[in-house]
Amino acid sequence: MNYEIVIGLETHVELSTESKIFCSCGGHSAAQSPNDCVCPACSGMPGMLPVMNKRVVELAVTAGLMLNCNINRYTTFDKKNYYYPDLPCAYQITQLNHPICTDGCITLKTSAGSRDIRIKQIHMEEDAGKLVHGGNSSYVDFNRTSVPLIEIVTQPDFRSAEEVVTYLNKLKSMFRSGGISECEEGAMRCDVNISVRPEGSSEFGVRTEIKNMSSFEAIERAIRYESQRHIDALEFELEELVQETRRFDDVSGKTFAMRNKETEADYRYFPDANLMPIIIDDEWLEQIKANKPTEVDEKAEQYREAGISDKEVDMLISNHKIGKLLDDTVALGCNAKDTATWILTDCAGILRKDGKTLADLAVTAETLATVIKMVDGGKINRNAGKKVLIAVIEDGVDPEAYCKENKLDRQVDQAAIAGVIDTVLAENARAVEDYKNGKVKAAQALFGACMRELKGAGDPAMIKELLEKKLQEL
Ligand code: ADP
Ligand code: MG
Ligand code: ZN
Repeated sequence: MNYEIVIGLETHVELSTESKIFCSCGGHSAAQSPNDCVCPACSGMPGMLPVMNKRVVELAVTAGLMLNCNINRYTTFDKKNYYYPDLPCAYQITQLNHPICTDGCITLKTSAGSRDIRIKQIHMEEDAGKLVHGGNSSYVDFNRTSVPLIEIVTQPDFRSAEEVVTYLNKLKSMFRSGGISECEEGAMRCDVNISVRPEGSSEFGVRTEIKNMSSFEAIERAIRYESQRHIDALEFELEELVQETRRFDDVSGKTFAMRNKETEADYRYFPDANLMPIIIDDEWLEQIKANKPTEVDEKAEQYREAGISDKEVDMLISNHKIGKLLDDTVALGCNAKDTATWILTDCAGILRKDGKTLADLAVTAETLATVIKMVDGGKINRNAGKKVLIAVIEDGVDPEAYCKENKLDRQVDQAAIAGVIDTVLAENARAVEDYKNGKVKAAQALFGACMRELKGAGDPAMIKELLEKKLQEL
């Protein structure tokens, strides 16, 4: 029998805010050592009260808009109670009854064609701390406690591991380019729900949930293993499938049962009376919409329309920092396609020589635009522009000062060209004589001789201009 794989995802994404969700501690990425981003509120001291971080709401709404969700104007927090040492309050503040976004949709392009994945909801919640095990002891680090997360829950609409990875990559690009999350390793974590059913069946099979995975490669392997385990269980009746939570072991490539699936009642959810309901009025929503960054698809389309190649578009979309550098440079008046070449070919090449990548690029849009404009404006030629760029990247020089000091600018070019023209005219007395006698074509031969002499180093328009001037003066 053929089986269809059914997958639904719950993805936790750490938000790029300057402070935690309910206190003013810096995010844990600012931490130097364990427990140095911690205050009485986020370490669960009795009597401390949470204060909502407005930015979290704005980023959650922005994510909801990107995923075509309904934005719920009335949204509330609930306490999810469980005891574990990394959770100092013994409850997690999350959203159960009135999540901030519901009923969205995202379109994926996969080898099977275009696929729509429905988003059930997005809710806001706080992260838990971390346990660190060493020697005979376990330590608890609260730096991550109360770091803001959004959890994006899909409907069980995925049918393959490939679709899941395509979805996760798309979320990652969107969230990076939208400033919602940098989605670094560990900042995007998935619970993968899997079941299988005979092809053509309209009922869902028993599902298992693989918890807390952050590597896309591991997710893919886990889905392959777990779906095959389900199929084998049904085909050969080797084991009975039960709804449970499992973990994936990276070394063996297998999944193992952790616990029976807990139900909502196990957590004794109840509304958090310490936090007021949040009302998102029209004015606030409009403001968030106006600040919403261009969406990835739209952005990619803009790049393509500017003549940037598909491969380059992929690089720009998947690397937020580089995409932003391009956008900012273009905003300063440079051509998009040219700028893409300067960044993705020239800068990348210069960095590669030192064993670095574009992630190490520290050039500002202003500096890059200065170099590009010096070339476009004919102040220096492209080769000289490349030399300037090398000095900018390697030594952080000021491009204009560097040009002057190293005599790369047009005046110097002009002097060098004028010298070559004089030589060529002296060596080609015959052609010069012809020109004087009215043979205009002789100028073409002299131009060719100058070009050969300069070995392509000079700007042809400038050579032509200077040569014509000289001939006129004869
Ligand atoms: P719970 O409240 O038990 O967590 P949800 O309805 O919120 O259950 O679903 C959690 C996730 O499991 C969702 O992403 C959903 O799409 C997925 N899911 C639900 N049923 C199935 C199934 N039969 N097979 C695969 N995934 C499923
Ligand atoms: Mg759930
Ligand atoms: Zn704090």
